[in-house]
Amino acid sequence: LFISFEGIDGSGKSTQARLLADHLRDAGRDVILTREPGGSPGAEEIRALVLQGDPDRWSAETEILLFTAARRDHLERTIRPALAAGKVVICDRFADSTRMYQGLSRGDLRGVVDRLHDLMIGVEPDLTILIDMDPTEGLSRALSRKGAEERFEDFGEDLQKAMRAGFLALADEFADRFRVVDGARAVDDVASDVRAVADGFLPK
Ligand code: C5P
Repeated sequence: LFISFEGIDGSGKSTQARLLADHLRDAGRDVILTREPGGSPGAEEIRALVLQGDPDRWSAETEILLFTAARRDHLERTIRPALAAGKVVICDRFADSTRMYQGLSRGDLRGVVDRLHDLMIGVEPDLTILIDMDPTEGLSRALSRKGAEERFEDFGEDLQKAMRAGFLALADEFADRFRVVDGARAVDDVASDVRAVADGFLPK
């Protein structure tokens, strides 16, 4: 089973992904917890290229190619082998993040993102958990987080609002695999909703 977590910066999705991995391991499942961009040695190298340094280093189109290249490597080296071995793969962000960030934040490039996805990736998670969060709260959480060295943290509130709306629209578009969980609550309350959703998707 392939599960992805999505949400704006500071939504708490990485914490929730980790807690779900812990829960499923406790229940005896073999789990791989991974993330994007990154998740394989080559993709982590690309992560450093796109998330550090001058934000205008790459054009929007080049950035889509780099994110897609990273995803392809992640899929080949990490995700597919794990799924083939019967593991549960939990991924912190996947193609939906590219539909949002690269597809929306620097112009309307969703069509380009989708065509490249069909050509080079062609896989969607079985379940995508959207941790929904008010952008003002998400942003203050993201900015206060230690080690927020990455340039994307500077997106600002307007873009975060657009991203939140975009993720909710994506949840409608792919309603079969998306489940929305309210992230603006105590970590444990969010985690118990996440567990209930995931348990419902897991083969017995
Ligand atoms: O998931 P995490 O918050 O660690 O992601 C790091 C940053 O990369 C985020 O701030 C996010 O906005 C950005 N990102 C992006 N496009 C993606 C994935 C992540 O712009 N496809």
